[in-house]
Amino acid sequence: MDAKIQEIIEKYNNDKSRLMDILIDIQSEIGYISKESVIQIAKQIDISHVDVEQTMSFYHFFTQSPPGKYSIFLNNSVVADMMGREGVRASFEKEAGCKFGEITEDGLIGRFDTACIGMNDQEPAAIINNIVFTKLTPFRVREIIRDIKAGKSVSDLFMESYYGGGMNSSDKLRAMVTNNIRKVGPVLSRNYVSGAVIKEKLPQMSAEDVINEVKDSGIRGRGGAGFPTGLKWEFCRKAKGDKHYILCNADEGEPGTFKDRVILTEFPELLFEGMAVAAYAIGANEGLLYLRYEYKYMEDYLEDVLHKARANNLLGKNIGGITGFDFDIRIQFGAGAYVCGEESALIESAEGKRGEPRDRPPFPVEKGYLDQPTVINNVETLITAVKILNFGSEWYKSFGTEDSTGTKVLSISGDCKFPGIYEVEWGFSVRDMLDMVGASEVQAVQVGGPSGSLISPKDFDRVLCYSDLSTGGSMIIIGDHRDILKDIVLNFMEFFIDESCGSCSTCREIPVIMTEKLKNIMNGKGIAKDIDDLLEWGELLKVSRCGLGHTAGNPILSSIKNFRHIYDEKVIRDLDYISEFDLKKATKESCDYVGRIPSI
Ligand code: SF4
Repeated sequence: MDAKIQEIIEKYNNDKSRLMDILIDIQSEIGYISKESVIQIAKQIDISHVDVEQTMSFYHFFTQSPPGKYSIFLNNSVVADMMGREGVRASFEKEAGCKFGEITEDGLIGRFDTACIGMNDQEPAAIINNIVFTKLTPFRVREIIRDIKAGKSVSDLFMESYYGGGMNSSDKLRAMVTNNIRKVGPVLSRNYVSGAVIKEKLPQMSAEDVINEVKDSGIRGRGGAGFPTGLKWEFCRKAKGDKHYILCNADEGEPGTFKDRVILTEFPELLFEGMAVAAYAIGANEGLLYLRYEYKYMEDYLEDVLHKARANNLLGKNIGGITGFDFDIRIQFGAGAYVCGEESALIESAEGKRGEPRDRPPFPVEKGYLDQPTVINNVETLITAVKILNFGSEWYKSFGTEDSTGTKVLSISGDCKFPGIYEVEWGFSVRDMLDMVGASEVQAVQVGGPSGSLISPKDFDRVLCYSDLSTGGSMIIIGDHRDILKDIVLNFMEFFIDESCGSCSTCREIPVIMTEKLKNIMNGKGIAKDIDDLLEWGELLKVSRCGLGHTAGNPILSSIKNFRHIYDEKVIRDLDYISEFDLKKATKESCDYVGRIPSI
């Protein structure tokens, strides 16, 4: 038995539901999770090594072999590409002397592509040994690799002058990330003293009062699904169980969204208070902040905020002086899997398993974390709930529209002068948004990330709200000069292919087939019927188990819907069939190997 690994597992009481924490700690300590470690973990927490391996293999950030002393994960999102990622990637390869997906022979540097890391307003960005580097340029890459080769530690790779604004430059964060808060509304306003709701409002309110106030406000989940928050709390409170749990979904993986990162950085006290308020409403004693691994750099900072909340009687026992109101929060990291943003997948992950969505019903409010009634709320939802209880539901309803009350925090990026975070009232038009962020010559806006819709200028007078353009907050602006199919749609389809958990054959196979057809069309080898086939395949996807599968065809479906002319211009109209099989290409490798010139 390796003593260090044994110590880590014992820290989590040999509890198999803490497998994610065990794997994360071992990887941080040793750099990777060896076969021997897997066997030791399995033995000590009493599960099969296959169970350990299947959890480990599910997540992008776990590795079974050394990933390099310096592991560089370069974001490959659409916006990173727009902002010059290719040049940065080439510079990494040239300076380090090995390709992406490989490790240098001396084991010093490993380079990997990774999906959106929540930095779309400051791309190209990368994570090196859990530290985020933003606004990279080929020159900056040369400096970084030079310093790595000189043996500098990662934290020494940038100077203090590079620290971002706000809390990013605080002692516990020391991150070069910038917040870019460009428009503040009632939720992001600093018109609130932390702890006031817990100490002044809750003592006067029953759990039912809290739920009713939230229900009256009309707030719906801000993660994208839009389920009424008060109703969710009510269902959970009424559900029978030994314990109730509140989980905060801070796994914002939808490419283009980064608002939760900013809220976590600037308003963590408000978030933890929101979790405590929800706990009071549903009768929970325990809460988990499920935080994406990409935000690991925030760990010490957030732990410090939790520590201070305990010291201020905002967490712990008899919170706010309310006898019997005991509640605490722990941070549960993910390890890189977009599907874990789906709430039942998030629960599976938090229980130490592969993040595969569950069949529903039962819903998490009845049978969630550890099979107990559980509420999962988005970061923005929880901070908004605090403001609602402080200022009242009538105040909240004075913002927004009748069916979409309040405000929405948007993450805006892409081809605009001022990417960043904007809090706007629901009912805000896309055209106003484009003016607000300094965007001109726009050919499209991706509303709600890859799973949302790609709209064209004819829809720019539509408004953001649940009955028109619903969004979890990701807004990507696409300028006239972009190639919609190559620069946008293809990237999004490849993203979904990478992120499918593989459980449903539809979600596992159809996006691959659709992407192949898309490439054929892009390469001038598509026929008119291919467009019909794409529409049909996209519909078939909707029988998949979870939201990822339902929406995995959206990049193609919505681009056909709103940019049909691009497809029509590329397909060949007078052919019924084009052979996609290239015999010369297919036999090239074997011909090269035996030195034969193909006769075709
Ligand atoms: Fe997994 Fe896709 Fe099925 Fe969702 S739809 S459960 S991501 S295979």
